[in-house]
Amino acid sequence: MNNVMIGLEVHVQLNKLKSKLFCGCSTDYQDEEPNTHTCPVCLGLPGALPVVNRKAVECGIKVALALNCEVLEQTLFYRKNYFYPDLPKGFQISQYDFPLAVNGKMSIETDRGEKIIRINRVHMEEDPARMIHEGGIQYSRHSLIDYNRSGMALLEIVTEPDLKSPKEARRFLDKLRSILEYLDVFNGDLEGAMRVDSNISLAGGDRAEVKNISSHKGVEKALSYEATRQKNLLRRNIKIIQETRHYDEERGITISMRTKEGEEDYRYFPEPDLPPMSVKSWTERLKDEIPELPDAKIRRFVEEYGVKENHARSLTSDIEIADYFETVCKSSICTIPRQKVVRRAREIDPNMAASWIVDVLKGELNYREMKIEGSPLTEDKTIKILKDLSSGKITEKNAVEIIREILDNGGDPEEIARRRGFGRLDRSETEILVKKVIEENPKVVEDYHKKKKRALNFLVGKVMALSKGKSAPKDVNELLEKYLCED
Ligand SMILES: [Zn+2]
Repeated sequence: MNNVMIGLEVHVQLNKLKSKLFCGCSTDYQDEEPNTHTCPVCLGLPGALPVVNRKAVECGIKVALALNCEVLEQTLFYRKNYFYPDLPKGFQISQYDFPLAVNGKMSIETDRGEKIIRINRVHMEEDPARMIHEGGIQYSRHSLIDYNRSGMALLEIVTEPDLKSPKEARRFLDKLRSILEYLDVFNGDLEGAMRVDSNISLAGGDRAEVKNISSHKGVEKALSYEATRQKNLLRRNIKIIQETRHYDEERGITISMRTKEGEEDYRYFPEPDLPPMSVKSWTERLKDEIPELPDAKIRRFVEEYGVKENHARSLTSDIEIADYFETVCKSSICTIPRQKVVRRAREIDPNMAASWIVDVLKGELNYREMKIEGSPLTEDKTIKILKDLSSGKITEKNAVEIIREILDNGGDPEEIARRRGFGRLDRSETEILVKKVIEENPKVVEDYHKKKKRALNFLVGKVMALSKGKSAPKDVNELLEKYLCED
């Protein structure tokens, strides 16, 4: 798909704020009855006046700075007029000219290396209410409306059409989500936290807007469907019309909704109930509150811990996993004072920790749809498991089994290893088995002395079988050679 051009409009709910964008209603409505977190402002009752949530503006500025945007000197709210039941005022308070910030950029990792995606703008707006169509929008006999969501603070992040494939669009959203979570302004697990509209066009065709992609995972599927649809039309010489299409997540297809309205249809005008804001002077202070972001963390993990770049990327894509990794590595630093020089040695090799967390733990968590935060496998347990693994007390297979059991049922790694008879035999225990095998196989021993290499392999196999795989292969080889020489 070389000639595809995709631009995204990402709506991000600032769902970590305590109250909505223009009123004091609580944002904590996800598990509540519909229409219980409302007031005259977010229900759009006549005469109710909005007041801007200062924290929401601060979150918006932080996101804009993290996306390398310029914050404008003056920013202004507008009324975007349209009639729809999810918007009882008849307009949405949004931004138009003078958005919060413009001209940003964010890099994504593509198959051909790093790529810069330009950000056109970041603006603030209120979330409309949630419409629920039982059985899907095409078949539902009525619309249900929940105003709990009405008035939630949204950020709209608009990219230039720099994305060249549905896969790049997904990468962009994954990265954006991780930045928002680093900034602690957003919980991507909540329903409707990130909704995406997208423009997609092929060279030689008009662009279509695909709306209502409600999960960042759905984006790749929706856009792939739409790109293929357009390609097939072009191939048959059918003109692609500029229109808005709705993504039906259950069926995985896009459906024509209406020809696209132009901006003039919205009759934008400045919101008379909210004065212009000059917030650029806040940026210096807010810059200091921005934590280390994913790109910087990747570089630091590579430099400080010497982990491979692909491991660093995987560890840092989720801030909880990144913190978990650092706790596991840091807790194992011991300082050894030696001739006034403090040497820092790590009990757990960071490369080994990285590889266990990325290659094993993340997979086991995904499989169980669990998050590391709040899982029974706390950092101290992983530290114990990795220490026992590196000292040879348990095998790699044992370690995987212990991790699985703790994720499923909790428990202590040492207790599990004891109960399930995990662990390696020590050298003296292996020695007994070696002597026994030599005694019981005189014929093979004779072969060994005739310089038959196969004979040694056979004996090694016997000892390993006898120990149920718990002897260290190094011990078995050394001891066999020792006793066979004496023989
Ligand atoms: Zn309210």
